[in-house]
Amino acid sequence: MNRADLLAALAWQVDLGADEAVQDRPVDRFAESDSPKPATPAPRVDAAAPESGEPAAESGAEIAARADSLEDLQRALAAWDGSDLKKGARNCVFSDGLPGAHLMIVGEAPGANEDREGKPFVGRAGHLLDRMLAAIGLDRNSTEPENSAYIANILPWRPPSNRTPSEREVALFLPFIERHIALARPRLLFAVGNTPTKALLGTKDGIRRMRGRWRRHGPSGLPLLPSFHPAYLLRQPAEKRSSWLDLQALRRALDGETPDVEERLP
Ligand code: URA
Repeated sequence: MNRADLLAALAWQVDLGADEAVQDRPVDRFAESDSPKPATPAPRVDAAAPESGEPAAESGAEIAARADSLEDLQRALAAWDGSDLKKGARNCVFSDGLPGAHLMIVGEAPGANEDREGKPFVGRAGHLLDRMLAAIGLDRNSTEPENSAYIANILPWRPPSNRTPSEREVALFLPFIERHIALARPRLLFAVGNTPTKALLGTKDGIRRMRGRWRRHGPSGLPLLPSFHPAYLLRQPAEKRSSWLDLQALRRALDGETPDVEERLP
């Protein structure tokens, strides 16, 4: 291969979504391809769409329903091979903060920093989220349920190049986050951004339309407040004004005011 071929091969990888080296040492795949091939592994059975005639793998919903603690759910999620996203990620990003906190925040999916550290919201958007929480007296590291927050994402694996998760990916992981909410037992839900708002409320309406109004999260019956994602606020700082209104609404509800929930979706 000459330099141009190598650059083209690299560009192809970037197009596929590779944006960082995942190992300290390079691996010579050309040398590997010259050596005898190992026996072909059995094809993976897609949990959502099993081939007819093949035994159906256990679905995410069945696995999630069986978990009866957060630890169980985390183990089951990390072990589940129902999505190829797992192959391209380093860590299963499950949660951070205090289980049992009155507030549970649900984001979209881990980014590069989260994938590296194995915790949600630890990059720039996470730092902004921490400042937003601090502005209403919350701290994910607090050990008091009323002053802390519990944080998770719809997807536990980082999508390549931080792309927006597909509808199919969201549907695959939805049973896990629903079970996650049930086991974490928060009083209130805060959905940041389009993906968690649409997934948890089952609406097609985007965050512009949905933010700032309390809704009912069907499976848990909990009040849920949709709001802008901190990463969006980093790009559009003028929107912090409406986020501040949402944070104040959250504070009032945490202080005991009954949220004015709109029971019907627009
Ligand atoms: N964005 C998210 O939605 N979740 C994270 O954990 C980080 C960034």
